[in-house]
Amino acid sequence: MSTKRDYYESLGVSKEADASEIKKAYRKLAMKYHPDRNPGDKEAEEKFKEISEAYEVLSDETKRRNYDQFGHDGVNGQGFGGFGGQGQGFGGFEDMFGDIFGDMFGGGFGSSRVRRRGPQRGADIRQSITITFEEAAFGKKASIKVNRSEECEACNGTGAKPRTSKKTCPTCNGTGEVRSVQRTPFGNIASSRTCGECDGTGEVIETPCSKCHGRGNNRKVKTIEVDIPAGIDDGQMIKLSGQGEVGEKGAPRGDLYIIVNVKPHTLFTREGNDIHFEMPITFVQAALGDEIEVPTLDGKVQYKIPEGTQTGTVFRLKEKGIPRLRGNSRGDQYVKVTVEIPKKLNDKQKDLLREFAKECGTDVHERKKSFGQKLENFFKK
Ligand SMILES: [Zn+2]
Ligand SMILES: [Zn+2]
Repeated sequence: MSTKRDYYESLGVSKEADASEIKKAYRKLAMKYHPDRNPGDKEAEEKFKEISEAYEVLSDETKRRNYDQFGHDGVNGQGFGGFGGQGQGFGGFEDMFGDIFGDMFGGGFGSSRVRRRGPQRGADIRQSITITFEEAAFGKKASIKVNRSEECEACNGTGAKPRTSKKTCPTCNGTGEVRSVQRTPFGNIASSRTCGECDGTGEVIETPCSKCHGRGNNRKVKTIEVDIPAGIDDGQMIKLSGQGEVGEKGAPRGDLYIIVNVKPHTLFTREGNDIHFEMPITFVQAALGDEIEVPTLDGKVQYKIPEGTQTGTVFRLKEKGIPRLRGNSRGDQYVKVTVEIPKKLNDKQKDLLREFAKECGTDVHERKKSFGQKLENFFKK
């Protein structure tokens, strides 16, 4: 095997670097070595492949963990053989690193759109929460722990060491953009791009803040209260605006999306706002009728099943379902009755049933009787 460079070394970050540091480092290097900016330069191309591979691994939590544990062997064979080597061209990178190149190049390679980057809004965070069937029905105040970036208190988010200031970016002279001329088969195209040195802000930090290493923010675990509304269903999302990652100075935070998972219930199933429930009864109850106790979300409810109830009969308990998310009505609960035929009877019970059958003749079973007549007619033909 060739001696591969350490991925952290490739990106020039420490082993403790967090996701935003890694992204930042990669952006900076990618700007410098991108093939679009270094046409025909083999060395730059190699360098670009190297840092892209490093970023692909270090930006993925699982791959990074494997790499930390097992080195290059831990991440080999996970399918990034395609770095230019297998005819994959550089177009593939745009998909793979879409968000990075998206804000680097304004959405497309070679775009000549001039864009001076303002302070960027924080990233959104997605987090899931698991609640019970009842909690989904009636709502809940929950608190969740979110690991997110908070503005650095030492430098107030500027990234500069307190009492030092920023200086004008030497690369772009404070304009935030770099002009270049590209030779293409269609002629020379002049383009202007966001300056990589200062991320388009026009300013660079002279002495970085020691607490946040110039990032302007630090990661913290924060407890956030969430009002889970009554009626929420499995897979639905709650958006908490402005509770995501901290934005750049002067820009708002991203949003926090909470994805709700609802645990299945042992008795009830849910369809929209209705609840379905299956209630076993004996054939004696079915034949004679009975008052039964039906479980609902609000506790037990008495229900009178009439004489001669058939198996599969569904009755409805109005407004015993799930509250609707909007409005204050509720769904219904549907109770399906299933008549259970006993499997083991003792001799006395069997005798009683035989006697019962004799007493009935065939007359009491309407459906069986009409079926018998149809059958007779069928064979007469
Ligand atoms: Zn700081
Ligand atoms: Zn600059």
